[in-house]
Amino acid sequence: MNAEPRAMPKRITRWLRFRLTFGFAVVLAALLCGMGFIFLAVIVSIQADQMAETLDEEWALLRGHLDFTRAADGQSRAVWTFNRADPEEQSTVARLRGTLLIADADGRVIELPEGFRSLRTETPDQIRSAVATGRTSLGVRIADTGEPFLVRTGIRIQGESRFYIALGRSMARQYDFRRRFTFAYFIMVPLLLLGASSIGWLVSKRALQPVADLAKETEAISGSNLKVRIASRGAGDELDHLIENFNRMVARLEKAFNQTRQFSTDVSHELRTPLTVIRGHLEVALMTATTESQYREAIATALTNVERLSGTVRALLHLSQAESGQTALRKEVFDVAQLARGAAEQFRPLAEAGDISISYEGSRRCMLLADPVQIERMLLNLLSNAVKYSRAGGSIRLSVREAGASVELTVSDTGIGIPKEAVPHIFERFYRVRRASDDDADEGYGLGLSFVSWIVEAHGGTIGVESEAGAGATFRVTIPGAVKQRESKGDKEEHGVSGERARA
Ligand code: ADP
Repeated sequence: MNAEPRAMPKRITRWLRFRLTFGFAVVLAALLCGMGFIFLAVIVSIQADQMAETLDEEWALLRGHLDFTRAADGQSRAVWTFNRADPEEQSTVARLRGTLLIADADGRVIELPEGFRSLRTETPDQIRSAVATGRTSLGVRIADTGEPFLVRTGIRIQGESRFYIALGRSMARQYDFRRRFTFAYFIMVPLLLLGASSIGWLVSKRALQPVADLAKETEAISGSNLKVRIASRGAGDELDHLIENFNRMVARLEKAFNQTRQFSTDVSHELRTPLTVIRGHLEVALMTATTESQYREAIATALTNVERLSGTVRALLHLSQAESGQTALRKEVFDVAQLARGAAEQFRPLAEAGDISISYEGSRRCMLLADPVQIERMLLNLLSNAVKYSRAGGSIRLSVREAGASVELTVSDTGIGIPKEAVPHIFERFYRVRRASDDDADEGYGLGLSFVSWIVEAHGGTIGVESEAGAGATFRVTIPGAVKQRESKGDKEEHGVSGERARA
């Protein structure tokens, strides 16, 4: 029954803490990489736009500074026009001439500086077809040196002639920037991951510490030790909620365990006594009885005890069915005052026989939402006790009245009362107040009030008793679920209703 508490799993990969941190790290890595690629794509696109714009500007500048003339040999020649006195124009033209290819419509190269030569240059056929179709292009070419260039090609028309121009611009700086960014970013990712995971590891330890503490504390709880309660941390969080529920569950378990334990002890004790008596009588009869009447007497005593035994078993079954939740409450709205008067009526003959008066005092009508069968059982039990423990000439008063949202039911008698020290125990199973005058056969099973207390509890009500030895007893039950009625004249309280009052 006492299973060993399970220790922490040995493999770290099974730890909740590890799984949390690992999951967090994987998600973070994916996020960081994704972000890196997005940044890079944005940088590339911005750089491409900027370069294309720069090349467009340079293309426009070409228009202002480049002209073509036809030489004596019929070949075209490029003529660069600019203000030689202006250093800015000088440098612009020098830059433009640095990386460019100029060819005529036949694919003959007119100008090809060193800077462009190292790029993969177009063949005359390619140039001719581009001039024929008027096709322009924009793309990256890698020079022999490995330097990337953005090259824009296009056609320039001057008079009757068409010229093919390819203008290049180094992208070394841009590529370098991308390389440095990629390097820095992806060096940073593992470092960031390491840092974030370490923090995650520590934070998850802190966050899960209460769970670990809880697990440790629960190890102390076993079937034989259900007294342990886990102290609330006072944080009012989910964990405290869990602790509260857990404590409540252990308390219920403890109660159930104790009840079961008590039950077995009580039952064996209760059954042993009549069995011993039966056995004793039968043995004596067997050994000493000689006449039929002696045998009859022994059998009669045994039978009385057998009846008592089956009575106890029946009452026990009833109670354990109720307590184990097999007796479901069937609530409905009913007039509990009427029910109480009916119950009093049932006891009238018995009370009259014992010279005891029974009277109903209370509301004429009192509606209650409860299980009428169980409420009646409760009243019958209380009345039965009142009659049983009353003396001749005594009186029993029963009353029902509304008390706020509840209904108060009182059964009061002027009987022998309950000694002070016994009062706290009378609702316990098999508890009976032993009295010198007790006639064993007449004695109850000590289960009636346990049943009453179950009924009250099942309805969410309370029960109290005021009593003193020799001074009678008053049982006061409060059951929630009063159903308000519009008060009519007839609903007023009645005291000592003559019709309900009986006096033997
Ligand atoms: P029992 O079947 O013995 O009456 P109960 O559970 O009904 O068992 O009651 C437990 C004990 O409480 C009884 O033994 C009795 O001594 C005491 N008791 C209950 N009701 C009254 C009462 N109205 N007056 C005096 N004693 C009472």
